[in-house]
Amino acid sequence: MPMRRQRKILIVVVDGMGDRSVKELGWRTPLQSAKRPNMNWYAENGASGLVDVIAPGVPPGSDTSHLAILGYGPREVYTGRGPFEAAGVGLVGKKGDVAFRCNFATVDSEGNVLDRRAGRIKQPETTELAASLVGMRIEGVEAVVKEATEHRAVLLLRGPGLSPLVSDVDPHDLSPIRTCEPLAQEARKTARVVNAFVQKSYERLRVHPVNARRRGEGKPEANILLPRGAGVFPDLAEFSSRYGLAGACVAGVSLIKGICRVCGIEVAEVPGATGGLDTDMRAKAEAVSSLLESKEFVLLNVKATDIPSHDGDFKKKIEIIEKVDGMIGQLRTTIPADTVVAILADHCTPVEVGEHSGDPVPLVVYSEDGVRDGLSSFDESSASRGGLGRILGKDLLPILLDRANRSEKFGA
Ligand code: ZN
Ligand code: ZN
Repeated sequence: MPMRRQRKILIVVVDGMGDRSVKELGWRTPLQSAKRPNMNWYAENGASGLVDVIAPGVPPGSDTSHLAILGYGPREVYTGRGPFEAAGVGLVGKKGDVAFRCNFATVDSEGNVLDRRAGRIKQPETTELAASLVGMRIEGVEAVVKEATEHRAVLLLRGPGLSPLVSDVDPHDLSPIRTCEPLAQEARKTARVVNAFVQKSYERLRVHPVNARRRGEGKPEANILLPRGAGVFPDLAEFSSRYGLAGACVAGVSLIKGICRVCGIEVAEVPGATGGLDTDMRAKAEAVSSLLESKEFVLLNVKATDIPSHDGDFKKKIEIIEKVDGMIGQLRTTIPADTVVAILADHCTPVEVGEHSGDPVPLVVYSEDGVRDGLSSFDESSASRGGLGRILGKDLLPILLDRANRSEKFGA
């Protein structure tokens, strides 16, 4: 009897790559308009399909889409963006912890918000400010603050009797800050803790040397932290025990890193992987190849395609897709030849819409012995005629596990 040789799995997520037909491109999509010899190679040697990442017609967020791509039912496990944002900057909480997204902002002495981003303050100043808030305890609850990108930060509350059912302190515009209100009986303590935290953070930040310096430079002070979007850490089965795979992730954006950390997937720090247009795709591909020497599963996210999509810049989107194609070519020649490879977008971000849409995304799956479906092009239209048909996001990983000879038989 032949041995089932277990293969490794690589998922390449090209963020927001899917699109609609664009008039200026002769009603082609940016993907159809891009030179993509390597993606087309995978189409020719693999099988394509369309994916409703969450469900047909539902525009996915990058967080819920990645949960689905990792095989988790997003409706069951998604608890809001806050916890994943926190994990993205390294604050991985436990069940029961409540995380908030925050802005460093400027308020006057009456609590009126003058600048929601405190003059777009960023690191290293936010690092110093966040450090001054660490170690606060209120009603037996520990408050941990960590700076994130630009003017953002995350707040993690850890202690007994917490609930995420509280309102935002951030007014989301230039009006007085809001009192955090409990949205359910069991959230009264949490609301008190949040309000006390905001008051204490104001008292400490107001007199912080960073702000004295900013005053001197005529810049808005970052004298308050405004929490919003409370969420609990989901109670997830760890990826490695759920699938029997040691996994790693290569991503520039912290939200994706956070998703992976919460799922128990190791996040590789790759110098030059910025999550921006300037990201070093060569370095990311090199990191993936070397991770696949020791890991059985790697998720690679490239965010750069989503950025011009939101900006409505189809020319830039085509240019970035071509760069991504080069990166895929590099991967093709450097990863183990029998790796099962899936390439897909996590959602469509049509340039004419400038936002995520509920259109299905193109997918191609390659494995050495996979049955070729006769397509020769990778794009939204060709994928609709592919051998994989139309699947849900959470069905992808089981398909890949089976191609990797890692699936379990159902029945006798
Ligand atoms: Zn995305
Ligand atoms: Zn987006």
